[in-house]
Amino acid sequence: MKNILLINTGGTFSSRPGDHGLTPELASGDICNLIGEFDPALSIVAEDYCSLDSSNIAPDDWQKLALRIGEKVGFYDGVVLIHGTDTLAYTSSMLSYMLQNIPVPVVVTGSQMPLGVPMSDAADNLRCALQMAASGYGGVFVAFDRKIMLGCRTSKVRTVSFNAFESINYPYIGEVNAFGLHLHLEQAQASGSPFQIQAAYSDRIAVLKLFPGMNPDIFRFLHEHGYEGIYIEGFGLGGVPFLKSDFTAEIRRASRSGLPILVGSQCRYEGSNLNVYETGQRILECGGIPVHDMTYEAVVTKLMWCLGQAKDREAVQQFFQRAITKEVSFS
Ligand code: ASP
Repeated sequence: MKNILLINTGGTFSSRPGDHGLTPELASGDICNLIGEFDPALSIVAEDYCSLDSSNIAPDDWQKLALRIGEKVGFYDGVVLIHGTDTLAYTSSMLSYMLQNIPVPVVVTGSQMPLGVPMSDAADNLRCALQMAASGYGGVFVAFDRKIMLGCRTSKVRTVSFNAFESINYPYIGEVNAFGLHLHLEQAQASGSPFQIQAAYSDRIAVLKLFPGMNPDIFRFLHEHGYEGIYIEGFGLGGVPFLKSDFTAEIRRASRSGLPILVGSQCRYEGSNLNVYETGQRILECGGIPVHDMTYEAVVTKLMWCLGQAKDREAVQQFFQRAITKEVSFS
């Protein structure tokens, strides 16, 4: 018998139509009743953390969830987290950093249609998440549309289709086929390092999505207003302009004064590489820190997490020069 902890946070999964549209309503007990017993080999304990649309989930929720899950490790064989899909990938990314080398599976899931609605994907996704939670393989995962993905590699890429999530720049960890849940465990190998809960973070960060003609003055504003880290989403392989709008001077000034400036790509797939073009190399020379092939969600949450561990630019750079979990590959 496997003991699984099911934590509900809300989202479409638990929603019902209300006066203002779909609103999370079902509690974990209702969810268990609606699902019924579908695997007698699992003993499920369900609890509610909150009942929120995931647009209302904030970094302090990630911290509280990490601490709550961390204190239950040792009592359960796995954890399933029901979460709204809109910010699910941020939560799964941050939990991957906060719960490093967790020895049991933590599986985040949700659905595109509420549980109990005909044609809903909710029960299916939960079933898949529960099977993964019983698998014995430690780490933070996402279960959705019969796929298992690494939590730190997942992005929501579609708004209404059932295949709303993809594993970005990383293979799926598993999928459900006629033989059941089939895992590609070579992709999920644990590092063997000790489990540690590191739940500190800073939300004093900003993201700049570049557009042609953007004014670099924004850097000065952000720095003067106490922002501790900035992520620039550049063009293509990570290009940042240095002629008519010159970002290099501002990036150099900000980096020299200790503000970490990360640079990646607006393209979702195949990662960034600042070594290829002059528009990338100049940014590296000015102190820009490359994020390689990480997802947007993984970069934003890693920056918050790093700033919870250390404030200085050099320390943040060192964190981004290595993988904390499997969020980045270096080509
Ligand atoms: N708005 C919902 C949420 O993220 C969408 C969903 O769960 O699919 O909470």
